Amino acid sequence: QFKDRQLQFSLTPATDVVYVALFAPYSYERHQDLIAWSLSQRQCELFASYETPDNHQIEILKIAGAAQAPKSVWIIARQHPAETMAEWFMEGLLEALLGEERHLHQSVLATCNFYLVANMNPDGSVAGNLRTNGMGIDLNRAWLNPDKQQAPESHFVLQHMANTGVDLFLDIHGDEDVPFAFIQGCEGIPSYNDALQARERQFKAELANASGDFCVEDGYPACEPNEAPLNIAGFQIGARFNCLSLTLEMPFTDNKYRSDAVSGWSPQRSKLLGKHILAPIKSLFQKT
Ligand SMILES: [Zn+2]
Repeated sequence: QFKDRQLQFSLTPATDVVYVALFAPYSYERHQDLIAWSLSQRQCELFASYETPDNHQIEILKIAGAAQAPKSVWIIARQHPAETMAEWFMEGLLEALLGEERHLHQSVLATCNFYLVANMNPDGSVAGNLRTNGMGIDLNRAWLNPDKQQAPESHFVLQHMANTGVDLFLDIHGDEDVPFAFIQGCEGIPSYNDALQARERQFKAELANASGDFCVEDGYPACEPNEAPLNIAGFQIGARFNCLSLTLEMPFTDNKYRSDAVSGWSPQRSKLLGKHILAPIKSLFQKT
């Protein structure tokens, strides 16, 4: 129970060691399994990798489509390491694109190349940090000009984004307070306009259409014109690459519009949303 601003619980441990987590963990071993499995699939290649200060790997996976002039879709997850639902989301996305049902999702590859970072912050993940990397930096406040020493994870990924260009950016997170999954767009960046707002609304509507677990309702208040904080990835990438750039947030507890009394928000629901995100991506580039 949440009482007096404290999360309180009691248990009688049946073993000497008990781990308690804010959400279903996504272990580093599982991360390595996910990368190894993905790279064993014919369509997936290791686009680039970076060894972090604490000697973990950040992998950028590339899934190349068939288009002659493909759009570059970048999706990153788990800048905030405790938001493990973000990596469950990536697992669902990778399974949809590469697994047994991949034939159902191939049409999205007619227009796009995917660049996927399943875990942006392995140092923070292994350390059990809530929001920061191994040096105590919140990566999602470090995108204005990512410092190579303090935020090498963001620095590495941004360099590669500059090489490929970005036509769509998605940054995957979890939010402890808002009890539904939602998307924050780029309102407040200098180049924000009616056309971009229309594209954001269309994307959200189509995701809500594909997934009963996504809500077009805003979870955060919109920024005032020109007041978007450009040190946050979603705003920085939208401003820098003049593209559709969205931050997707999932709940920790449950979706209040579709609550599940037994499991609440779960790895399985996060994975399903990762699969359903392909629907709006597909139609986004079909129409342009
Ligand atoms: Zn976050």
